[in-house]
Amino acid sequence: MKGEYIVDLHIHSPWARACSPQLTLENIYRWCKIKGITVIGVGDFTHPQRFQEIKKKLVPAEEGLFCLHPRWAKENDKLIPQSVRHNEVRFLLSTEISTIYSKYGRLRKLHQLILLPDLSTVAEFNRQLQKIGKLASDGRPILGLESKELLKMTLQLHPQALFIPAHIWTPHFSLFGSNSGFDSLEEAFEELSGEIKAVETGLSSDPFMNWRLSQLDGLTLVSGSDAHSLPKMAREAIILRAPLNYSAIRQAIVSGNDDFIGTIEFFPEEGKYHYDGHRRCGVVLNPRQTKKYQGLCPKCGRPLTRGVLHRVEELADREPDYRPLQHKKVEYIIPLVEILAELIGVKGSNSRRVEKIYQQLYQKLGDEFRILRQVDVEEIKEAGFPQLAQAIQRLREKKVAVQPGYDGVYGIIRLFADSTSLPPHSEQLNFSI
Ligand SMILES: [Zn+2]
Ligand SMILES: [Zn+2]
Repeated sequence: MKGEYIVDLHIHSPWARACSPQLTLENIYRWCKIKGITVIGVGDFTHPQRFQEIKKKLVPAEEGLFCLHPRWAKENDKLIPQSVRHNEVRFLLSTEISTIYSKYGRLRKLHQLILLPDLSTVAEFNRQLQKIGKLASDGRPILGLESKELLKMTLQLHPQALFIPAHIWTPHFSLFGSNSGFDSLEEAFEELSGEIKAVETGLSSDPFMNWRLSQLDGLTLVSGSDAHSLPKMAREAIILRAPLNYSAIRQAIVSGNDDFIGTIEFFPEEGKYHYDGHRRCGVVLNPRQTKKYQGLCPKCGRPLTRGVLHRVEELADREPDYRPLQHKKVEYIIPLVEILAELIGVKGSNSRRVEKIYQQLYQKLGDEFRILRQVDVEEIKEAGFPQLAQAIQRLREKKVAVQPGYDGVYGIIRLFADSTSLPPHSEQLNFSI
């Protein structure tokens, strides 16, 4: 744990579609301290207003990294308790671009994450993209440009630029997406596919699922939150031990060297499209069962909505239990507010009671990642939270019950299976990693 820190490369700004107006840089700064995130992507640097905000509120820190300007830092430090105030926060220049184009006779829609080392390169990147599409209309701009061309442009722009295909399994907007993606990196990037060094696995898949594709061997599997609001930041993230500067962080991601410790993962079953099924028919199937029914709903006879697990099965050339000889650490978490919601017995994590206890917790025990990953359970108990101590013990032992999501229905993850009545397709999972 020594020297390790948490990085979230993928978040958004108030100017991206369906994103919270609260995602200002100073709010992000405060939430990073509460959560225990050391390096955060600014998100949406292609948007003119976000770019203005970056230039106004951030100041250069270590090479390629930025701090919040002392003026805003001072004000915001006053709003959070001593227990988290001294956590360090650095910003890194990041954005997500959506490309839409036709290739091999089909419509393709892909999202990609781009990291750049300095403001003048961002300005030049934005200048070039302005010729292709309207950057002001969305924080995650939609460009009529081939992903391969965007990759070429990024590589030519700066040797330290980094291009990462985002949430590669999402059905609608990704590299391997069942609706508008490709079957291989080569199809999408042709002779430039070797330039792809890392892919983002997304919320609905984890490294275990991705190891099943030999075409991903040698690529670093990264995770990011794709947060549309502050509390969702770092629900997935990277754990690094690299020196705190852009080049070292980039190098760790590109090479997957010893500075890259691993990823923090959402349980993939929680995703809305993990299993196959029909929402209206109440039919939930795993890919094997779907095959048995020839892809048709046993209730209504219409084609089933295929989930991410099914798409992985389609492209995988290895069995589900395949493990590489050596691999990076995979650490599952359940966001603290979700654990509290389960303990209190409220639906959703937005309740006032949950919020209040969450505040008490970080005030007493430090940031969220410290509570989830490091604080001794005895200490949590002694601080007055015996039930939570038990829950966190179970999380660390990976004793959870899952009810996989399907056809747009979110999955449910429970630490105490008896705390709620889970439907019959739930199963008890004991992960052994
Ligand atoms: Zn995206
Ligand atoms: Zn049906």
